[in-house]
Amino acid sequence: MTTVVGHLINGALITESARTQPVYNPATGQPEKEVALAPAATVEEAIAAAQASFPEWRDTPAIKRARVMFRFKELLEQNADKICELIGEEHGKIAHDAAGELQRGVENVEYACGVPELLKGEHSRNVGPGIDSWSEMQPLGVVAGITPFNFPAMVPLWMYPMAIACGNTFVLKPSERDPSSTLFIAELAHEAGLPKGVLNVVNGDKEAVDVLLTDERVKAVSFVGSTPIAEYIYATANTNGKRCQALGGAKNHAIVMPDADMDNAVNQLLGAAFGSSGERCMALSVAVAVGDEAADTLVAKLSEAMQPLKVGAYTDSSNDFGPVITREHQNKVTGFIDSAEADGANVVVDGRNPQVAGYEDGFFVGATLIDNVTPEMTSYKEEIFGPVLQVVCANSMEEAMKLIDDHEYGNGTCIFTRDGEAARYFSDHIQVGMVGINVPLPVPVAYHSFGGWKRSLFGDLHAYGPDSVRFFTKRKTITQRWPSSGVREGVSFAFPS
Ligand code: NAD
Repeated sequence: MTTVVGHLINGALITESARTQPVYNPATGQPEKEVALAPAATVEEAIAAAQASFPEWRDTPAIKRARVMFRFKELLEQNADKICELIGEEHGKIAHDAAGELQRGVENVEYACGVPELLKGEHSRNVGPGIDSWSEMQPLGVVAGITPFNFPAMVPLWMYPMAIACGNTFVLKPSERDPSSTLFIAELAHEAGLPKGVLNVVNGDKEAVDVLLTDERVKAVSFVGSTPIAEYIYATANTNGKRCQALGGAKNHAIVMPDADMDNAVNQLLGAAFGSSGERCMALSVAVAVGDEAADTLVAKLSEAMQPLKVGAYTDSSNDFGPVITREHQNKVTGFIDSAEADGANVVVDGRNPQVAGYEDGFFVGATLIDNVTPEMTSYKEEIFGPVLQVVCANSMEEAMKLIDDHEYGNGTCIFTRDGEAARYFSDHIQVGMVGINVPLPVPVAYHSFGGWKRSLFGDLHAYGPDSVRFFTKRKTITQRWPSSGVREGVSFAFPS
């Protein structure tokens, strides 16, 4: 019988569903499970469970909420192998990459363990005679998270540990393409001591998402996914009076300056372009070489270094990266390579039709290098989200920076150079949210916040880190006086000063 990945509502697993869709193992290309697609009524049930558990959870001392996070962190570490296996089966990530994803997720739980400190607020004594004033951060109530397929463990952990630690209750709608690790992790959160109803998981598609965006009991929505959906989520949530942050897609450029340590830049580019099959919103997908000589050297060294790269199934940890998520996505990625070629670019290393013995039906794309790419090409303008690195040539650092600034996305970027002055100018002026200097994937650690600029993020606050405390709380400022007994204040019509 086919396994159905269901929902976790009010502490109970629910697998019955009128609608389901297949969950593929992308390495074999076979549908191996089904995922339940929640109808509106099931999402409403999850919201009701979250709403009912809010008053008690809100009033649970922060230190007790933090203790659940400490136990949750331990359980995540104890169950790491199983989680990585589930990620491998449904996403296709190789174990070393899945372990890195999980570790980054765990770091967000560690940050949430410090919630009593983070919620301390501000206090001022004697703001007026006998008057004290303080501000505190109160939870919002029921909040929701909607997450993408490419980090089924990490991205949900960006959201609900902090939201819950702050005293909110949560409804999570994970990606329907690889839902098992996300659901299993939510079960671990319950094992760690979360009261039922505090964290609910509903699997589903647009029908489920639309309930979260319109139900008035949901006070805030945190979304991570592609830009067109992020824009829809942000607009709909705002129209319905909700706080929203919606993180979208990317096209991350690396500038390679002529003075860079080329061998080092090549090594860094390989991991950042092809790791996780390029299915990372921080993947470096464009290398901008400054000067013809740098471009020639870079392309020659990259194409040589790419020869031994191994694409294959997650079960063999000697593979460098795995398949892409679906057959449809495989066709989309190879379609971008076709279009670059048709537009006059030069496919130097061609990853179309890689041979993976024993996995002939898998959704594999091999590492691909495309040279002579120009900004008008569709493959340059759009996010490919596959193991494809494109090389563009610029005549100067200013020209390279202008390319980046003119692109619609502004998630991450990096410069490879030995020149501190150039690096400082770059980080100071570039119109991108996360910048690396000789660091190819400048993904902020859990105690900083993550977010792009331009059409890579809709909303004001970034994900996780200090911004997540602000996102998942509302500030209240209290001003208090206890008059001495027998003292009466006179009437005053002047503004208090
Ligand atoms: P996606 O936008 O297709 O899906 C994301 C979520 O939205 C899923 O839960 C999905 O069920 C839901 N969804 C899809 N279509 C919807 C619709 N029409 N209405 C309502 N909800 C809908 O994204 P994906 O393919 O799962 O993930 C890859 C994308 O996510 C890439 O563009 C990548 O750059 C982006 N991403 C961004 C970040 C970031 O931090 N900026 C991080 C990871 C991934």
